Amino acid sequence: MSDKEQMVSQTIDKYEKYINPAMAKLFRFMGLSTIEWEAQGNVIRDIEGKEYIDCLGGYGVFSLGHRHPKVVEAVKRQLDLMPLSSKVLFNKPMADLAELLAEITPGDLQYSFIVNSGAEAVEGSLKLARVHTGRSKVIATINSFHGKTLGALSATGREMFREPFQPLLSGFSHVAFGDIESLRQAVDSDTAAVIIEPIQGEGGIIVPPDSYLPAVRELCDKVGALLICDEVQTGLGRTGKMFAVEHYGVVPDIMTTAKALGGGVMPIGAFTARPHIWDKYITSPFLHTSTFGGNPLACAAAIAAIEVIREEGLAQQADQGGRYFMGKLTELSKTYPEVIREVRGKGLMIGIELTKEGIGGLILSEMIDKGVLIAYTLNNPKVIRIEPPLIIEQQQIDYVVNALAGALGKAQDMLEDL
Ligand code: PLP
Repeated sequence: MSDKEQMVSQTIDKYEKYINPAMAKLFRFMGLSTIEWEAQGNVIRDIEGKEYIDCLGGYGVFSLGHRHPKVVEAVKRQLDLMPLSSKVLFNKPMADLAELLAEITPGDLQYSFIVNSGAEAVEGSLKLARVHTGRSKVIATINSFHGKTLGALSATGREMFREPFQPLLSGFSHVAFGDIESLRQAVDSDTAAVIIEPIQGEGGIIVPPDSYLPAVRELCDKVGALLICDEVQTGLGRTGKMFAVEHYGVVPDIMTTAKALGGGVMPIGAFTARPHIWDKYITSPFLHTSTFGGNPLACAAAIAAIEVIREEGLAQQADQGGRYFMGKLTELSKTYPEVIREVRGKGLMIGIELTKEGIGGLILSEMIDKGVLIAYTLNNPKVIRIEPPLIIEQQQIDYVVNALAGALGKAQDMLEDL
């Protein structure tokens, strides 16, 4: 056994012994018996030097690609100055980031609280909505994904993740996504907030009707409930606009961001709200706090990330790349109608819905074998997600589509043999 092979085998053993044996088995089964080693741009290399085009993009984290030089440089610079905050002196990177967030988020969204992950951004939003309105009811959508901490999980709309942890927070209910009538029946004057992903990510890349989000906004206004838009996955250029709500001309009361905010280099999240909603936090600034939230290192990454997204026009790149990708995938869906039910999405947030759940595993391992990383959505294993870095090149898209054609052909043969 070579040194590298030994390292792979020892790492898998450690997963089995100290992390989770079932996870180790699943990775092995998918043909993933290797260690991720280095990454640059759209490509990840394993320890043996095999290259993979990253079509999963860390579930939306790697919008700028891996190790974007400007983000890496900003982080290195901050590391040499002061990576973590004293928490008692003014923190310049956090102030600069909050200003930038106010600038790029729609309408009058202004105050931000910086956190370390998407779930924390959701937790903060839910708390803010409750403390501002003095109400406790929250309405979320079926099949939504807002994270897995207790508050965020109370909003997440998948029973499989919720059921083992019941009772979750009281006051939460779930309505069908995209169906304004069921929301109309659920909201009332006790509703603190409606929390919604403008496009459901883990639910299977579900794009609602164009009229949906504006109607949700109107309903919230009617009963005095806040609209929280969870842009953790859709935000920062992914769907072809800086934020997905811009497709629908809607300004939420609170917006969450995370994933791509760290530029693919640091973990960070934020929730940003309209000024009057911050009232209770202004009278009591220590009502919501976080030791690591807003640390200068992560903020430096986020500032550089936002600058890159704007300078390199990544939202436009997502729009163009997405149209090209979706066009090619739609052609494939016509060639393999027995395997693909539908191709849908916006920008570079694309879902391929398969006709049967069992086919996904075969397609994923074929793709991994060909050097393409993709995965299914967490709440819907029938949907393969395509969320590459927004800088993916046309020839890389062509390579992925060709590899997918081969995998779909095999899946079709398998279905015929059944
Ligand atoms: N909200 C949305 C829309 C998400 O897609 C996710 C993660 O996939 C989260 C929240 C939770 O983010 P995190 O995994 O960083 O806690």
